[in-house]
Amino acid sequence: MSHLTDLQEHIQPLRDTLRRFIDKEMPREAARRWDREDMFPRDVFGRLVSIGVTGLTVPEEYGGTGVDIVATMAVIEELSRRSLAVAVPYIMTSCYCGMNIRESGSEAQKRHFLPKVARGDVMFAYGLTEPDAGADLASVRTSARMENDRVIVSGTKRFCSGANIADYIYTLVKSDPQAPRYKNLSVILVPTNAPGVSIRVADAVGMKGAPTTDVTFDAVEVPTSAIVGERDGWNNGWSMLAGPVLNVEKLEVAAMAVGIAQAAVDDAWDYAGQRSQFGKLIGKFQSVRHKLADLRTDLLASRLMLYHAAALANAGKPCGVESSMAKLFCTERGRTAVIGAQEIIGAYGLTKEFDAERYVRDMLILPIAGGSSNIQRNNISNMLGLAR
Ligand SMILES: Cc1cc2nc3c(=O)[nH]c(=O)nc-3n(C[C@H](O)[C@H](O)[C@H](O)COP(=O)(O)OP(=O)(O)OC[C@H]3O[C@@H](n4cnc5c(N)ncnc54)[C@H](O)[C@@H]3O)c2cc1C
Repeated sequence: MSHLTDLQEHIQPLRDTLRRFIDKEMPREAARRWDREDMFPRDVFGRLVSIGVTGLTVPEEYGGTGVDIVATMAVIEELSRRSLAVAVPYIMTSCYCGMNIRESGSEAQKRHFLPKVARGDVMFAYGLTEPDAGADLASVRTSARMENDRVIVSGTKRFCSGANIADYIYTLVKSDPQAPRYKNLSVILVPTNAPGVSIRVADAVGMKGAPTTDVTFDAVEVPTSAIVGERDGWNNGWSMLAGPVLNVEKLEVAAMAVGIAQAAVDDAWDYAGQRSQFGKLIGKFQSVRHKLADLRTDLLASRLMLYHAAALANAGKPCGVESSMAKLFCTERGRTAVIGAQEIIGAYGLTKEFDAERYVRDMLILPIAGGSSNIQRNNISNMLGLAR
C-alpha cells in the first residue's frame, strides 16, 4: 500500500490549490444556483484553466504539463465535491478531447487539439448512446459515408451530455454496414455549429450545467480530417472506444462518485454534530455513529481502489479489471453514501435548503452512465476468465 500513500502525497499540493480555488470561485451558493438554473459557469471554468489543470492530460510537446492520470482524477474528485457544472466540462475538455485525441488522433489532430485542451479552449461531448443502443454500443445506427474528401453523417444520438456547451460531438457512427461487427464503426468529430446539427436539452434530474441532450444529424457534411485518426481511423472506431481510454473513462465516473460521496458524508457528519433530538446530539445515537463510520470506511476503500487503478493506467499497465472494479465499487457505494447522508439529515435532506438532495440527483446517474454496474460485473467476470 505504500505506493498509494506516496500517490496521495504527490497530489496533495494540487488538492490544496483546488480547495482554495473552490472556496473562492465555487461557493456553495453559486453551486446551488448553477444547479437550479442548469447553467455552465464559463467564467469560473476559464479561471480554473489558468491553474493549469486541463494540461494534465496533454504531453509537454503539445503544450501541456505531461500526462498525469492520478492528478486528473484528483481534479475531477475535488471539483465534483462542489459542483458537476464545473467537473463535467473539465472532463469534456481534459478527458473526452485530451485523452481521446492523444490516444487515437492523427498527428495533425494532436497538433490542432491538444494545445487547445491545455488552454481550455475546446470541449467535446460524447455522442455514443442512441435511442436503440445503450449498453450495446456496437449496434449504433447513426451512419457515415465517405464521398471523396467529405463525410456525411446522419442519425440521432441520445443522452449526449453537454452538447449544448461543447464545440464538437465525438460521434460514434456505423461507417460500413457490410463489414463485420466491431469492424464497421468510426468516430467523427462533428462541430456542434455545423449545418444539419440540432441539439435539444433533455430534462434529466441531475448533472445540471452540462445537461444531457438529444442530438440529430441531418446529412451533416464534414471533411475527412474530422475522422478521428483521419483515413486510418475509418472503421477503427471500436478499438478507440475499447482501448486504454475506456479504462480512464470508468475512472472519471468513479472519481465523480467519490467527490460527491465525500461532500454528502461531510455534510451529514456536520449535521449529526449540530442537530439535537431527545436532549442530545443525533451523532451520539449509536445507529447514526455507526452509519457515518461505515460511510467513511467506504470512502477510504473507494479512494484506494480509484487511485490504485489510476496509477496502473498512468503507468500504461493493464487495468481493465481494476478500473471496472473501481467504477462498480465507487458508484454503488457512492449511491449508498448519498442516500445514507440524506437519511441522517432527515426531512431537511429532502429540501433545497440543503445540498443532500442534489448529491442524490447527481449520484443516481453514475452507476448507469459510462457502462452500467451490470456491464462492469460482466467485464470483471469475463476478464478474469469465468466460464461463459
Ligand atoms: C444523465 C445521463 C448522462 C449521460 N451522458 C452520456 C453521454 O454524454 N454520452 C453518451 O453516449 N451516453 C450518455 N449517457 C447514456 C448512458 O451511458 C447509458 O444510459 C448507459 O450506457 C446505459 O444505456 P441504457 O440506459 O440505454 O440502458 P440499456 O443498455 O437499455 O440497459 C438497461 C438495463 O439493462 C442492463 N443490461 C443491459 N445489457 C446487459 C447485459 N449484457 N448484462 C446485464 N445487464 C444488462 C443495464 O445494466 C441496465 O440496468 C448518459 C445517461 C444519463 C442518464
